[in-house]
Amino acid sequence: MMSILVHYQELALKGRNRPWFVDRLVRNIREATTGLGVAEVRPLMGRLEIVLRPGARRDVILARLAHQCGVANYAVAARVDADLDVIADTAIQLTEGRTPASFRVAATRADKQFPVSSPDIERHVGRRLIERHGWKVSLKHPDLVVRVEIVPGMAFCFVDREPGVGGLPTGVSGRALALLSGGIDSPVAAWRMMKRGCRVHFVHFHSYPVTSTASIEKARALASRVSAYQLRSRLWMVPFATVQRTIVAHTPAALRVVLYRRFMMRIADRLAWRTGAQVLVTGEVLGQVASQTIENLSIVQSAASLPVLRPLVAMDKEEITTEAKRIGTYDISIRPDEDCCQVFTPRHPATRAGRDEIESAEAALDVQALVKAAVLEAEREDVVPDWADPS
Ligand code: ATP
Ligand code: MG
Repeated sequence: MMSILVHYQELALKGRNRPWFVDRLVRNIREATTGLGVAEVRPLMGRLEIVLRPGARRDVILARLAHQCGVANYAVAARVDADLDVIADTAIQLTEGRTPASFRVAATRADKQFPVSSPDIERHVGRRLIERHGWKVSLKHPDLVVRVEIVPGMAFCFVDREPGVGGLPTGVSGRALALLSGGIDSPVAAWRMMKRGCRVHFVHFHSYPVTSTASIEKARALASRVSAYQLRSRLWMVPFATVQRTIVAHTPAALRVVLYRRFMMRIADRLAWRTGAQVLVTGEVLGQVASQTIENLSIVQSAASLPVLRPLVAMDKEEITTEAKRIGTYDISIRPDEDCCQVFTPRHPATRAGRDEIESAEAALDVQALVKAAVLEAEREDVVPDWADPS
C-alpha cells in the first residue's frame, strides 16, 4: 500500500513544545488536503504518515505538501510488513526500470525492538538490489538512495524524497500583519515570517480612484499566492489617496515618502489590533532606496506602537529576487502597476529625515482624523489561497 511519509525538522521541534508543534502540523496538513482523498494523517514516532484512500489525488496532495511550513521533506512510500525479505522485494519493485550510476540503502529504525540493526538492514536490502539490478554501490555519493524506515509493526520503503519548505508549522508563532505593496520585497518578507510559524495577514494601501485598480489586483494576487503557504488569511484594502493629497498639499516635498510610511504604520497598527496581530512586517531593506536609510527606518518605526519586523533588512536585491522566484510571487510582482507611492513621490526624497522636521510637518496635519478616516474606510477581504496546483 502506498502512503505519503512526511518528516519535519526534528531539531527545531525539540523540547516541551514538540507535541504541540506536531499536532499543529497534523491539523494543518489535514486542512490543506481536505477533499483530496486523504483517509488519515497520523504521527508515527517522529514522522507523519498520510494514509491515502483509493483514487486519492496524489499529485495535488504532493503540491500542497510542497507549500506546507514545518515540513522538512516528504515522499511517496510503500508501507509493508516489517520483514526483511518483504522489504527487499518492495525495494526491488520500486526501483524496477531505474538505471542509477550508483546507489546506497539508508535504513533507520524507530522501533528498536526490531531484531536487525540498521546497517544489517542496509546490507541485506543492498545485496538483494545488486543481485537483481547489478548496480554499483557508493556510500558517499550515491546517485540513488533507497530508504527504509522501520516503525513498530511496519516498514516504509521509498526512493524519491522531496525537500519541503522547512521552518515551523503555521500557527505556532503568533500573528503578524504584513504591509503588502505590489513590489518584489514585501511578499517575500511575509513569506519569511510564515516560514517561522507565524500566521500572516495583509494590508495594502491604494490610491484608487486616482490610480487604476492594478495595484489592488496585484496585492490580491500576491496575497493569494503566498497564502498557499498558510491557507487562511485576510487582506485589508485601505484607500490612501486622501492621506497622500493632504500630505502633498501641506508638507515639504522631500519629507513625503517618510510621512506616507508613518501614516501607513499608524493605520496598519490600528488594523493589527483588530486582527489580533502582535507585530507589523515590511519588506524594507537597508539602503535599497533613498527612503530606507537607518534614520528613516527608525523614524518610520516610531509612528507604530507595535514592533515593526523587517525580515529582509540585510538582504541583497538579488537574494530577494531569487527567493521571490522560488516561492512563485516574482511573476506577479513584475506586472506593471501604479503604486500609490509612485504617483505622489517627490523626485528627491530626504535620505535622513530629522525627527524635528517630521514632527513640525505633521503638526500641520490632523493626524488622528486622517488615520481614523482611513481605518473606517478599510475593507477586509478573505484571501483564497492560490496553490498553483498541477492540473
Ligand atoms: P516592495 O517590493 O515590497 O514594494 P520596495 O523596495 O518597493 O519594496 P518601498 O516601496 O519603499 O519598497 O516600500 C517599503 C515597504 O513599505 C514595502 O516593502 C511594504 O512593506 C511597505 N509598503 C510600501 N508601499 C505599500 C503599499 N502601497 N501598501 C502596503 N505596504 C506598502
Ligand atoms: Mg514598493
